[in-house]
Amino acid sequence: MRVDQAELLRSFPAIRNDYLCYAAASLVGELVQLWTREVDADPRIFSLLVWGLTGINTVVAHQELAQKVIFFEIKLLDIWGYRPNLGGCLGCGTMDSAARPYHFSLGNGGLLCRACNQRRHHGLIPLSVATARILAKAQDLTTNKLARLQLSPTNGKEAANFLDYYSRHLLQRDVHSRKCLWEA
Ligand SMILES: [Zn+2]
Repeated sequence: MRVDQAELLRSFPAIRNDYLCYAAASLVGELVQLWTREVDADPRIFSLLVWGLTGINTVVAHQELAQKVIFFEIKLLDIWGYRPNLGGCLGCGTMDSAARPYHFSLGNGGLLCRACNQRRHHGLIPLSVATARILAKAQDLTTNKLARLQLSPTNGKEAANFLDYYSRHLLQRDVHSRKCLWEA
């Protein structure tokens, strides 16, 4: 099954007529294409892609696009088995504001609190407790319940930055469509 069959089944008018919706759909498509080169295709990807494109096509405001694509990527990483560990510090298990700032360790695939990251200075991406918590919740919710979560613009930017670094670390290449969406 080719994942781009999704576009033949539904017409997605907003994606064809609205530049930002098109940019968001391009990012979703590029992520699927890049990851599918690395790992065998999976029927769950097809369902996720349809969910992502349908969501992008039906946003009421452009601000909703960031959350759609971020949650899409979080779910995609889960399916491919690269779920980032966002449940608490890898070293001590804490997940509270007193231990901030938290960073995501690319090499270890999870969070480190201020105390635990002192000996490890490579590949640390800032990630606030608030953003990590929302992303962790998104990992555990089914796609039809993701609309319950609200990612603020600040948390959305932080999440997008984290996903940019994390996917570059995993794929060893840039995802070019990110620029079209985030710099538009
Ligand atoms: Zn710690």
